[in-house]
Amino acid sequence: MDDLTEKTRNSGKTARIADWLQGLWPGRCVACAAAAGSDDLCAGCRANLLPNRIRCLRCALPLAEPAVACGRCLRHAPSFDRAWSPWCYASPLDLVVLKLKFGADLAAARVLGELWREQLPLRPQFELDALIPVPLARDRLIERGYNQALELARPLAKSLAKPMHVGWLQRTRATDPQSGLSAKARKRNLAGAFVADSAVRGKRVAVIDDVMTTGATMQACAKALKRAGAVEVQAWSLARV
Ligand SMILES: [Zn+2]
Ligand SMILES: [Zn+2]
Repeated sequence: MDDLTEKTRNSGKTARIADWLQGLWPGRCVACAAAAGSDDLCAGCRANLLPNRIRCLRCALPLAEPAVACGRCLRHAPSFDRAWSPWCYASPLDLVVLKLKFGADLAAARVLGELWREQLPLRPQFELDALIPVPLARDRLIERGYNQALELARPLAKSLAKPMHVGWLQRTRATDPQSGLSAKARKRNLAGAFVADSAVRGKRVAVIDDVMTTGATMQACAKALKRAGAVEVQAWSLARV
């Protein structure tokens, strides 16, 4: 874990340098690159974000009209107990998420962290003992230098005054990227890919990710956590497809 701790420390240092540079050259919008003054996101992009207000209470899927659960959850309940995704995965939020994921863009991390934090007062009031970011495979972590789920979980844990436990959920093996795979292939790709620590026994935890698409990753995480004795698993993602 030492090299990861070191990387986290370095990313803090880089963030401070980026803040200093931002002060020298006032910002461009992280989504559309228009002049945005001291903001990371311009007013136009801000106004175009789509809150995920009408959603399935079980899997957070955006719905056309209010319902307790979507058709898919009614047919086959997911392995997590509840979900929360405050935003819809749509333009311009998708551009910011991609910048965080593949560009290590610190302004993008700031924007997304802030967008999630501002929705906290509206979150469903579930009891919670700890937050757990979806782990990245070790080789992908080394390649990218950071885990975007962890970058989003950290400010959330701080705002909620709840512990974040990175070690409670681990990848047992690298998996193929989920994008481009069918729902069935995504599930197969992730089977047995996660293992949870026995410290989760009796705990209510929220698994944190940037985007939830089919929910296959959250399902695989929830299965591992339940197997290790977690009493409740909530699936939290910033945005829902
Ligand atoms: Zn913009
Ligand atoms: Zn659902």
